Amino acid sequence: MSKPDEPWIESVRKSKELVIRSEAEVGVWTGVLQECVPIFNRIALKAMSYRIAGAEDKAQVVLKIAGSGKDDPKLANGTHGIARKAIQRAGRGGVGIIEVEVFLPAQPSGVSKNMILMIVLHEMGHAAGLEDHTNDGVMMTLPNEDNNGKIYSTKKSKRMPPFFLTNKTVSRLRTIWKA
Ligand SMILES: [Zn+2]
Repeated sequence: MSKPDEPWIESVRKSKELVIRSEAEVGVWTGVLQECVPIFNRIALKAMSYRIAGAEDKAQVVLKIAGSGKDDPKLANGTHGIARKAIQRAGRGGVGIIEVEVFLPAQPSGVSKNMILMIVLHEMGHAAGLEDHTNDGVMMTLPNEDNNGKIYSTKKSKRMPPFFLTNKTVSRLRTIWKA
């Protein structure tokens, strides 16, 4: 069954921007946002964009390592994170997402660099409001890795990198981010 995409509250949608911070600066995740933010902004084709939080900024999306807090979600495997969304259902400011925590696996099983980037880009897509998976591109359901470390969905798929979102995914993002 498909789940509807989940927009942010209007004030955030109007800004067309999400401020993101990493609290997961350990091991393979170190520096991953500096790489992923420009990639995501390029493939989102201006539907919205991410900005890395400065020291004084409040981040709307925060990356964390799963398992450090007692309420953290349990991750089933090492090639997928979880985006936990706080959603406002009523009140001033309207209805929509107000905050997202992205939980990353402490010990990802696919530790190639491309898979690390893929995991974070994929969760950035969820944090931007995309719910359902696609059959190709960054929002694909099950990423496979070939012998050269390239990521693909099915035999016929375009290998990543370069990372991409399908045209349909970009148009879903545009719909989500309509102010
Ligand atoms: Zn997913």
